[in-house]
Amino acid sequence: MVKRGSSPACKSARTGGRRHVPMRTCIACRQPRPKRSLIRIVSSPGRGVEIDPTGKMTGRGAYLCLDPDCWDTALSSSNVLPRALRTSVSTDDRAVLMAFRDQELTAGSVGAADG
Ligand SMILES: [Zn+2]
Repeated sequence: MVKRGSSPACKSARTGGRRHVPMRTCIACRQPRPKRSLIRIVSSPGRGVEIDPTGKMTGRGAYLCLDPDCWDTALSSSNVLPRALRTSVSTDDRAVLMAFRDQELTAGSVGAADG
């Protein structure tokens, strides 16, 4: 028998009986996350780029996590979003996404009670 101090063979790790959670990758930070903790952005022909809260709209989708920084990254870059959606993203489209970011993702930080 030859014993070598190589890496342990730990293949086929059992994940218990847990339900499989669909994972999607944020286009900005590239972190895989549960689909439900991401916002889907969809590009559909004739309608442009929209937020898809239900995740059921037809079209090419891209996912961003709930971190406003990721939206900044995706929206400030000229190619992250167009590459993910395989379409051009107009200034108006970006404005819509930025408004969603401001309303939905940063709303929790307002309402200071002290002072
Ligand atoms: Zn992200």
